[in-house]
Amino acid sequence: MFPTAPPAPPADNLCDVCQKPMLGNPGLPDEKVCLNPACVHLMKQKKTLPPILFENIFRIQSQQIRDMNQRAAADEERRKSIDLSIRKDDQELVNQLKNELPDQDAQSSRLISIASANSTLVPLPKKRKEAFENYLKETLATAFSGKTINSKDYAKNRSKLTINNKQNQKVADLENFTGKICSQCRGGCCIAGGNEAFLEVPALRQQINRHPDLTEESALALYLNRLPEKHVEGSCVFHAANGCNLPTDLRSDVCNAYLCNPLTEHREASVEANTVLPALVVSRNYRHYHRYDEEANHEVVSVSVTNADKQRLIDVKNIN
Ligand code: SF4
Ligand code: SF4
Ligand SMILES: [Zn+2]
Repeated sequence: MFPTAPPAPPADNLCDVCQKPMLGNPGLPDEKVCLNPACVHLMKQKKTLPPILFENIFRIQSQQIRDMNQRAAADEERRKSIDLSIRKDDQELVNQLKNELPDQDAQSSRLISIASANSTLVPLPKKRKEAFENYLKETLATAFSGKTINSKDYAKNRSKLTINNKQNQKVADLENFTGKICSQCRGGCCIAGGNEAFLEVPALRQQINRHPDLTEESALALYLNRLPEKHVEGSCVFHAANGCNLPTDLRSDVCNAYLCNPLTEHREASVEANTVLPALVVSRNYRHYHRYDEEANHEVVSVSVTNADKQRLIDVKNIN
Protein backbone atom coordinates (compact mmCIF):
# COMPACT_ATOMS: atom_id res chain seq x y z
CA MET A 1 0.00 0.00 0.00
CA PHE A 2 1.25 3.49 -0.81
CA PRO A 3 1.95 5.54 2.27
CA THR A 4 -0.17 8.65 2.60
CA ALA A 5 1.76 11.68 1.38
CA PRO A 6 2.34 14.36 4.04
CA PRO A 7 0.14 17.42 3.51
CA ALA A 8 1.79 19.95 1.15
CA PRO A 9 2.75 23.22 2.87
CA PRO A 10 0.31 26.04 1.97
CA ALA A 11 1.46 27.81 -1.21
CA ASP A 12 1.54 31.18 0.53
CA ASN A 13 3.77 29.95 3.35
CA LEU A 14 6.98 30.78 1.52
CA CYS A 15 10.19 32.19 2.95
CA ASP A 16 10.30 35.92 2.16
CA VAL A 17 13.95 35.58 1.15
CA CYS A 18 14.38 32.40 -0.89
CA GLN A 19 10.70 31.81 -1.75
CA LYS A 20 10.92 28.17 -0.72
CA PRO A 21 8.13 26.58 1.34
CA MET A 22 8.67 27.07 5.07
CA LEU A 23 8.80 23.73 6.86
CA GLY A 24 8.60 23.79 10.62
CA ASN A 25 9.45 26.82 12.75
CA PRO A 26 10.59 30.10 11.21
CA GLY A 27 14.30 30.99 11.37
CA LEU A 28 13.46 34.22 13.27
CA PRO A 29 10.46 35.01 15.48
CA ASP A 30 7.99 37.42 13.82
CA GLU A 31 9.53 36.98 10.36
CA LYS A 32 8.56 34.75 7.45
CA VAL A 33 12.03 33.36 6.98
CA CYS A 34 13.12 29.75 6.67
CA LEU A 35 15.89 28.04 8.62
CA ASN A 36 18.52 28.49 5.89
CA PRO A 37 21.37 30.39 7.62
CA ALA A 38 21.80 32.68 4.58
CA CYS A 39 18.12 33.68 4.71
CA VAL A 40 18.28 34.23 8.48
CA HIS A 41 21.48 36.29 8.19
CA LEU A 42 19.92 38.57 5.60
CA MET A 43 16.65 38.98 7.45
CA LYS A 44 18.40 39.78 10.73
CA GLN A 45 19.73 42.97 9.17
CA LYS A 46 16.19 44.34 9.02
CA LYS A 47 16.49 45.29 12.67
CA THR A 48 19.84 47.05 12.38
CA LEU A 49 19.84 48.81 8.99
CA PRO A 50 17.90 51.91 7.90
CA PRO A 51 14.78 50.71 5.97
CA ILE A 52 15.87 52.04 2.54
CA LEU A 53 19.31 50.49 2.82
CA PHE A 54 17.83 47.20 4.01
CA GLU A 55 15.40 47.19 1.08
CA ASN A 56 18.23 47.54 -1.42
CA ILE A 57 20.41 44.94 0.22
CA PHE A 58 17.43 42.61 0.56
CA ARG A 59 16.56 42.93 -3.16
CA ILE A 60 20.10 42.10 -4.30
CA GLN A 61 20.98 39.42 -1.77
CA SER A 62 17.66 37.58 -1.83
CA GLN A 63 18.01 37.30 -5.61
CA GLN A 64 21.54 35.92 -5.12
CA ILE A 65 20.24 33.32 -2.65
CA ARG A 66 17.47 32.30 -5.06
CA ASP A 67 19.98 32.00 -7.93
CA MET A 68 22.27 29.91 -5.75
CA ASN A 69 19.40 27.61 -4.77
CA GLN A 70 18.45 27.23 -8.41
CA ARG A 71 22.02 26.29 -9.36
CA ALA A 72 22.19 23.79 -6.49
CA ALA A 73 18.88 22.22 -7.57
CA ALA A 74 20.08 21.96 -11.19
CA ASP A 75 23.31 20.35 -10.01
CA GLU A 76 21.39 17.88 -7.86
CA GLU A 77 19.29 16.93 -10.90
CA ARG A 78 22.45 16.49 -12.99
CA ARG A 79 23.96 14.19 -10.35
CA LYS A 80 20.76 12.16 -10.12
CA SER A 81 20.68 11.70 -13.87
CA ILE A 82 24.35 10.52 -13.88
CA ASP A 83 23.54 8.01 -11.12
CA LEU A 84 20.49 6.83 -13.00
CA SER A 85 22.34 6.39 -16.26
CA ILE A 86 25.17 4.43 -14.58
CA ARG A 87 22.66 2.27 -12.72
CA LYS A 88 20.80 1.52 -15.95
CA ASP A 89 24.00 0.76 -17.80
CA ASP A 90 25.25 -1.47 -14.98
CA GLN A 91 21.97 -3.36 -14.92
CA GLU A 92 22.11 -4.01 -18.68
CA LEU A 93 25.67 -5.22 -18.33
CA VAL A 94 24.77 -7.51 -15.44
CA ASN A 95 21.84 -8.98 -17.39
CA GLN A 96 24.05 -9.58 -20.40
CA LEU A 97 26.79 -11.15 -18.29
CA LYS A 98 24.37 -13.42 -16.52
CA ASN A 99 23.20 -14.66 -19.91
CA GLU A 100 26.70 -15.19 -21.19
CA LEU A 101 28.36 -16.52 -18.07
CA PRO A 102 26.26 -19.39 -16.87
CA ASP A 103 28.53 -20.35 -13.96
CA GLN A 104 27.11 -20.29 -10.49
CA ASP A 105 29.16 -17.32 -9.25
CA ALA A 106 28.12 -15.07 -12.11
CA GLN A 107 24.48 -16.03 -11.61
CA SER A 108 24.39 -15.45 -7.87
CA SER A 109 26.68 -12.44 -7.69
CA ARG A 110 25.88 -8.97 -6.44
CA LEU A 111 26.94 -5.94 -8.46
CA ILE A 112 29.78 -3.76 -7.19
CA SER A 113 30.06 -0.66 -9.34
CA ILE A 114 33.28 1.23 -8.67
CA ALA A 115 35.62 3.87 -10.02
CA SER A 116 39.18 3.32 -11.24
CA ALA A 117 42.51 5.08 -11.03
CA ASN A 118 44.33 6.70 -13.90
CA SER A 119 46.40 4.11 -15.73
CA THR A 120 49.20 6.51 -16.73
CA LEU A 121 52.44 6.37 -14.78
CA VAL A 122 54.65 9.48 -14.80
CA PRO A 123 57.83 10.47 -12.94
CA LEU A 124 56.75 12.01 -9.64
CA PRO A 125 56.99 15.76 -10.41
CA LYS A 126 59.74 17.62 -8.50
CA LYS A 127 57.24 20.28 -7.41
CA ARG A 128 54.97 17.69 -5.83
CA LYS A 129 57.90 16.03 -4.08
CA GLU A 130 58.93 19.40 -2.64
CA ALA A 131 55.37 20.21 -1.64
CA PHE A 132 55.13 16.89 0.21
CA GLU A 133 58.50 17.40 1.90
CA ASN A 134 57.54 20.90 3.10
CA TYR A 135 54.18 19.70 4.32
CA LEU A 136 55.71 16.75 6.17
CA LYS A 137 58.44 18.84 7.83
CA GLU A 138 55.85 21.24 9.16
CA THR A 139 53.48 18.48 10.33
CA LEU A 140 56.29 16.52 11.97
CA ALA A 141 57.36 19.65 13.87
CA THR A 142 53.83 19.88 15.33
CA ALA A 143 53.66 16.13 15.94
CA PHE A 144 56.92 16.20 17.89
CA SER A 145 55.84 19.30 19.86
CA GLY A 146 53.55 18.87 22.85
CA LYS A 147 50.84 20.92 21.10
CA THR A 148 47.32 19.53 21.64
CA ILE A 149 45.47 18.75 18.44
CA ASN A 150 41.76 18.07 18.53
CA SER A 151 40.72 15.83 15.71
CA LYS A 152 37.21 14.45 15.54
CA ASP A 153 38.12 12.66 12.33
CA TYR A 154 40.87 10.78 14.11
CA ALA A 155 38.36 9.11 16.45
CA LYS A 156 36.00 8.49 13.53
CA ASN A 157 38.67 6.74 11.49
CA ARG A 158 39.82 4.70 14.47
CA SER A 159 36.32 3.41 15.02
CA LYS A 160 35.88 2.70 11.28
CA LEU A 161 39.08 0.69 11.41
CA THR A 162 37.80 -1.29 14.39
CA ILE A 163 34.53 -2.04 12.56
CA ASN A 164 36.43 -3.17 9.43
CA ASN A 165 38.68 -5.41 11.50
CA LYS A 166 35.73 -6.99 13.30
CA GLN A 167 34.06 -7.72 9.94
CA ASN A 168 37.31 -9.22 8.63
CA GLN A 169 37.54 -11.48 11.66
CA LYS A 170 33.91 -12.52 11.39
CA VAL A 171 33.96 -13.55 7.73
CA ALA A 172 36.87 -15.63 6.47
CA ASP A 173 38.55 -14.15 3.36
CA LEU A 174 36.63 -10.86 3.52
CA GLU A 175 39.86 -8.88 3.84
CA ASN A 176 41.44 -10.72 0.96
CA PHE A 177 38.31 -10.21 -1.16
CA THR A 178 38.35 -6.47 -0.36
CA GLY A 179 41.96 -6.26 -1.52
CA LYS A 180 41.01 -7.87 -4.84
CA ILE A 181 38.27 -5.30 -5.48
CA CYS A 182 40.59 -2.40 -4.65
CA SER A 183 43.27 -3.78 -6.92
CA GLN A 184 40.80 -4.05 -9.80
CA CYS A 185 39.97 -0.38 -9.15
CA ARG A 186 43.71 0.29 -8.78
CA GLY A 187 43.09 2.81 -6.00
CA GLY A 188 40.55 5.18 -7.52
CA CYS A 189 40.12 6.90 -4.15
CA CYS A 190 43.86 7.61 -3.72
CA ILE A 191 43.45 10.71 -5.87
CA ALA A 192 42.39 12.40 -2.61
CA GLY A 193 45.84 11.79 -1.08
CA GLY A 194 47.33 14.64 -3.12
CA ASN A 195 50.62 15.99 -1.75
CA GLU A 196 49.82 15.16 1.87
CA ALA A 197 48.83 11.48 1.79
CA PHE A 198 46.56 12.08 4.81
CA LEU A 199 49.65 12.14 7.04
CA GLU A 200 48.21 14.46 9.62
CA VAL A 201 49.49 15.04 13.16
CA PRO A 202 47.56 12.12 14.77
CA ALA A 203 48.89 9.70 12.13
CA LEU A 204 52.46 10.85 12.74
CA ARG A 205 52.03 10.73 16.52
CA GLN A 206 50.99 7.10 16.16
CA GLN A 207 54.34 6.39 14.49
CA ILE A 208 56.20 8.30 17.20
CA ASN A 209 54.40 6.32 19.92
CA ARG A 210 55.12 3.04 18.18
CA HIS A 211 58.79 3.91 17.60
CA PRO A 212 60.01 6.11 20.48
CA ASP A 213 63.50 6.29 18.94
CA LEU A 214 62.20 8.25 15.92
CA THR A 215 63.44 11.82 15.50
CA GLU A 216 62.06 14.53 13.23
CA GLU A 217 64.90 13.79 10.78
CA SER A 218 64.54 10.02 10.79
CA ALA A 219 60.74 10.22 10.50
CA LEU A 220 61.11 12.57 7.54
CA ALA A 221 63.57 10.19 5.87
CA LEU A 222 61.28 7.22 6.57
CA TYR A 223 58.57 8.74 4.42
CA LEU A 224 60.70 10.50 1.82
CA ASN A 225 62.55 7.25 1.07
CA ARG A 226 59.22 5.64 0.17
CA LEU A 227 58.27 8.17 -2.48
CA PRO A 228 58.15 6.28 -5.78
CA GLU A 229 60.19 7.33 -8.83
CA LYS A 230 57.06 6.99 -10.94
CA HIS A 231 53.54 7.47 -9.68
CA VAL A 232 50.00 7.38 -11.00
CA GLU A 233 49.46 10.67 -12.78
CA GLY A 234 47.39 13.14 -10.77
CA SER A 235 47.01 10.79 -7.78
CA CYS A 236 48.61 10.70 -4.32
CA VAL A 237 52.39 11.12 -4.22
CA PHE A 238 52.69 7.54 -2.92
CA HIS A 239 50.39 5.97 -5.52
CA ALA A 240 52.71 3.76 -7.57
CA ALA A 241 52.35 1.09 -10.25
CA ASN A 242 51.50 -1.70 -7.82
CA GLY A 243 49.43 0.33 -5.41
CA CYS A 244 50.45 2.32 -2.35
CA ASN A 245 54.20 2.60 -1.81
CA LEU A 246 53.72 2.91 1.94
CA PRO A 247 53.33 -0.27 3.99
CA THR A 248 50.04 -0.28 5.89
CA ASP A 249 51.71 0.48 9.23
CA LEU A 250 53.12 3.74 7.85
CA ARG A 251 49.79 4.85 6.33
CA SER A 252 47.28 7.00 8.13
CA ASP A 253 44.08 5.58 9.60
CA VAL A 254 42.23 7.46 6.87
CA CYS A 255 43.95 5.32 4.24
CA ASN A 256 43.66 2.10 6.19
CA ALA A 257 40.01 2.61 7.13
CA TYR A 258 38.51 4.09 3.98
CA LEU A 259 36.21 1.94 1.87
CA CYS A 260 33.91 3.39 -0.79
CA ASN A 261 30.15 2.89 -0.45
CA PRO A 262 29.68 0.08 -3.01
CA LEU A 263 32.42 -1.93 -1.33
CA THR A 264 31.15 -1.15 2.17
CA GLU A 265 27.66 -2.29 1.18
CA HIS A 266 28.96 -5.54 -0.27
CA ARG A 267 31.01 -6.23 2.84
CA GLU A 268 27.96 -5.59 5.03
CA ALA A 269 25.86 -7.95 2.90
CA SER A 270 28.61 -10.57 3.23
CA VAL A 271 28.72 -10.15 7.02
CA GLU A 272 24.94 -10.54 7.07
CA ALA A 273 25.21 -13.74 5.00
CA ASN A 274 28.20 -14.89 7.07
CA THR A 275 30.16 -15.63 3.89
CA VAL A 276 31.88 -13.63 1.15
CA LEU A 277 29.21 -13.12 -1.50
CA PRO A 278 30.44 -13.40 -5.07
CA ALA A 279 30.42 -10.13 -7.01
CA LEU A 280 30.22 -8.85 -10.54
CA VAL A 281 32.60 -5.95 -10.32
CA VAL A 282 32.24 -3.17 -12.87
CA SER A 283 34.98 -0.58 -12.78
CA ARG A 284 34.44 2.66 -14.69
CA ASN A 285 36.82 5.27 -15.94
CA TYR A 286 35.94 8.11 -13.54
CA ARG A 287 38.04 8.82 -10.47
CA HIS A 288 36.39 8.24 -7.13
CA TYR A 289 35.18 11.64 -5.75
CA HIS A 290 35.09 12.92 -9.36
CA ARG A 291 32.11 10.92 -10.58
CA TYR A 292 30.09 14.10 -11.19
CA ASP A 293 32.79 16.24 -12.77
CA GLU A 294 31.82 17.77 -16.10
CA GLU A 295 34.66 15.90 -17.83
CA ALA A 296 34.19 12.58 -15.96
CA ASN A 297 34.30 9.55 -18.22
CA HIS A 298 31.97 6.75 -17.14
CA GLU A 299 32.93 4.10 -19.67
CA VAL A 300 33.62 0.58 -18.41
CA VAL A 301 37.33 -0.18 -18.01
CA SER A 302 37.20 -3.62 -16.44
CA VAL A 303 34.72 -6.24 -15.32
CA SER A 304 35.36 -9.24 -13.11
CA VAL A 305 33.59 -12.05 -11.38
CA THR A 306 35.19 -12.11 -7.95
CA ASN A 307 34.59 -14.49 -5.10
CA ALA A 308 36.47 -15.41 -1.95
CA ASP A 309 38.99 -17.58 -3.84
CA LYS A 310 39.58 -15.99 -7.18
CA GLN A 311 39.05 -13.06 -9.49
CA ARG A 312 38.23 -13.70 -13.12
CA LEU A 313 38.58 -10.69 -15.39
CA ILE A 314 36.19 -10.57 -18.32
CA ASP A 315 37.12 -9.13 -21.67
CA VAL A 316 35.28 -5.79 -21.77
CA LYS A 317 35.67 -5.45 -25.55
CA ASN A 318 33.47 -8.47 -26.05
CA ILE A 319 30.86 -7.09 -23.75
CA ASN A 320 30.35 -3.49 -24.94
S1 SF4 B 1 37.85 1.71 -1.64
FE1 SF4 B 1 36.62 1.78 -3.50
S2 SF4 B 1 37.44 3.56 -4.62
FE2 SF4 B 1 38.97 2.98 -3.08
S3 SF4 B 1 40.38 1.56 -4.14
FE3 SF4 B 1 38.82 0.32 -3.12
S4 SF4 B 1 37.26 0.01 -4.70
FE4 SF4 B 1 38.50 1.74 -5.37
S1 SF4 C 1 49.12 7.06 1.13
FE1 SF4 C 1 48.73 5.25 -0.09
S2 SF4 C 1 46.66 4.57 0.47
FE2 SF4 C 1 46.91 6.69 1.19
S3 SF4 C 1 46.08 7.95 -0.47
FE3 SF4 C 1 48.29 7.74 -0.80
S4 SF4 C 1 48.51 6.01 -2.18
FE4 SF4 C 1 46.45 5.91 -1.31
ZN1 LIG D 1 14.72 30.93 2.88
